[in-house]
Amino acid sequence: MGGRGSHSSSYSTVRKTPTFESLDVKSTKEFDTLPDDTKTTVLASIDRMYSELPKLRGEIAYVDFYERPKRKIKASNAGELAHVKPYGDKSNVTLLEGFKDTKRLNARVSSDKSGVNGQDVKSVLYHEIGHAAVNRIRRNTGNPSIETSIVNKASSHGKASDISRYATRNNNETIGEAVSDYMTHGSKANPMSISIWKQLKSYLS
Ligand SMILES: [Zn+2]
Repeated sequence: MGGRGSHSSSYSTVRKTPTFESLDVKSTKEFDTLPDDTKTTVLASIDRMYSELPKLRGEIAYVDFYERPKRKIKASNAGELAHVKPYGDKSNVTLLEGFKDTKRLNARVSSDKSGVNGQDVKSVLYHEIGHAAVNRIRRNTGNPSIETSIVNKASSHGKASDISRYATRNNNETIGEAVSDYMTHGSKANPMSISIWKQLKSYLS
């Protein structure tokens, strides 16, 4: 009681800053070269998704970053990756999905004029972690087409094109975009995104 540190009690309700250790996520040397605010954003995004979807914890094994052919941040297991031609230019946010057992797929999901900033990195990370969530649900349920079931159930609330153009690509991307929409906009997200999100929560809570 009292003594050193007692002055910090006013911070006791502040959420602890996530670390690689607390999330059990490894990083590569290349990732460690990123600016601190980018690293913080990556950790915070993973932390927030783990908090929302407790049974997702542990799904992201490591984060990586590489510059060729394009700058990308990679977060396994879902293979996935966000990023970026970060420092100016056209600032295309690019992601790479490298599912272990299947072919690699590059997809440019969005672009913006502002370069790397927390919001853009976050929205892509949420999309990617959305894929990780589906992967885990697929394993947990043993249902190889669980994404179709989730999207079909949500379809009474709207259609993929209501969420984004990229969401129309396939059911997996519908879910990725819905997660990004929900995590970015909360209760103001598209109703179909909210329906998808609720299902993810029911599987992973
Ligand atoms: Zn995707």
